[in-house]
Amino acid sequence: MEKAVKYEKVTELALRRGFYFPSAEIYPSTPAGFFEYGPLGVALKRKFIELWRQYIVKCDNMIELDGTVILPEVVFKHSGHLDNFVDPIVECKKCKTIYRADKLIEEKTKKQIPEGLSSDEFDKLLEKYKIKCPCGGELGKVSKFNMMFSFTVGPRKSERVALRPETCQNIFIDFARLFKVARAKLPVGIAQVGKSFRNEISPRQSLIRTREFTQAEVEVFFNPASANNFSKFDMIKGYKLILQPVGKKKPIKISASEAVKKKIISSKLVAYYLVLLQNFYDACGLKNYRFRELSKDEKAFYAKDAWDFEVETSLGWIELVACNNRADHDLGAHAKGSKQKLEVMDGDQKVLPHVFELSLGVDRSIYCLLEQALVEEKVGKDKRLVLRLDPKLSPYFVAVFPLVNKDKLPETAKKIAGSLSCSYDVFYDESGSIGKRYRRMDEIGTPFCITIDHQTLKDDTVTIRDRDTMEQKRIKIKELEKFLLSMITPVLS
Ligand SMILES: [Zn+2]
Repeated sequence: MEKAVKYEKVTELALRRGFYFPSAEIYPSTPAGFFEYGPLGVALKRKFIELWRQYIVKCDNMIELDGTVILPEVVFKHSGHLDNFVDPIVECKKCKTIYRADKLIEEKTKKQIPEGLSSDEFDKLLEKYKIKCPCGGELGKVSKFNMMFSFTVGPRKSERVALRPETCQNIFIDFARLFKVARAKLPVGIAQVGKSFRNEISPRQSLIRTREFTQAEVEVFFNPASANNFSKFDMIKGYKLILQPVGKKKPIKISASEAVKKKIISSKLVAYYLVLLQNFYDACGLKNYRFRELSKDEKAFYAKDAWDFEVETSLGWIELVACNNRADHDLGAHAKGSKQKLEVMDGDQKVLPHVFELSLGVDRSIYCLLEQALVEEKVGKDKRLVLRLDPKLSPYFVAVFPLVNKDKLPETAKKIAGSLSCSYDVFYDESGSIGKRYRRMDEIGTPFCITIDHQTLKDDTVTIRDRDTMEQKRIKIKELEKFLLSMITPVLS
């Protein structure tokens, strides 16, 4: 499939089969950047998050939190979002289109423009390069647009709040309590899955840039003095990471221990969590990915190490996870803002922990997995769409069909479907031609189809069809469970 077509194909499939679709679509005036997940999307997203929980949260004995999406503005005052979570915007006086000033200047000059410039500085640059709207109209003055959704709570409208623009702030403000109730010791990971909200100026590319999205975030709190005294590292030191350090044009494959020894990665602790993350995406079946080290211009001023986990798609490289060593920036700011003590004991030492963060975008991961899995292939004179999702993520693991809708075949098929549904997500269908039923399962990624035919009634065997090879073999009904079990890769690799 051609690259340009790929995005369209995924979007078409998502809409037609209901993986995801625009929110409130029956009302044409609905703003862009909001998506709903239909039945298949719900199943895929749930499995993706569960796999993340298995491979990262449980694997590392992390603590989990489910925080509120509405937080008082004071949290964002001290986190820096009130002042810094802004985009410079400029409006065309003629056609009223609103642009991001930095992007307009970058397009014209092909130079990277730092986001943090003042509105005046942006005005000067627009003037210097004589930048106009593509419609020919003059541009107005640059202003700063805060991307948080802010509003008030209660009838007095005096208490200002905002929807969180990232899930991690709950983890920082709850840190002291969580550390205490879990009787935790440093280093400790605290994880959270939940919704975040950003009032993007131009949401685009379906699930890639939305205004409401799901994050799966991990904040690892550690004593910076012990980041290299980290025994879990020994378990993964031979693991090969795909890294693209600053200055390199291509990614390199390098063992965790070598990356630490050569100081490509700053500590054993950071390397360990990068390995956990890569191993998780491997389990999802993701390909063509890299950790790209951010340059000084790209990373936040407080970040020590910053690696973006990116994947190559038809839309270019897409960032799926931001991996940032945020040092003591967050706890320090909230300790100061709240006047609470957020230091904890590490042995006999009192420390304000540093934080290494893995901030994962769930929705964009879902898009990229769908895009990589979707293949159009020739079958004789026919074509078929097949979604080669890893079986662990497939919305349905197995489909059960009676060959025809008569001769007592549906009764037997329903019995088999019923017995499998305790252990697997099973789809049952008895209508239409068997060929069409197979195709419908191929395009939603169901790895196996079991068909009950007349021979079943004679010798208790069924056929089982493989999604990828389309090969069928006959097996005994009583061996079905064992066979299906052997088809799921063990969870801890
Ligand atoms: Zn214009």
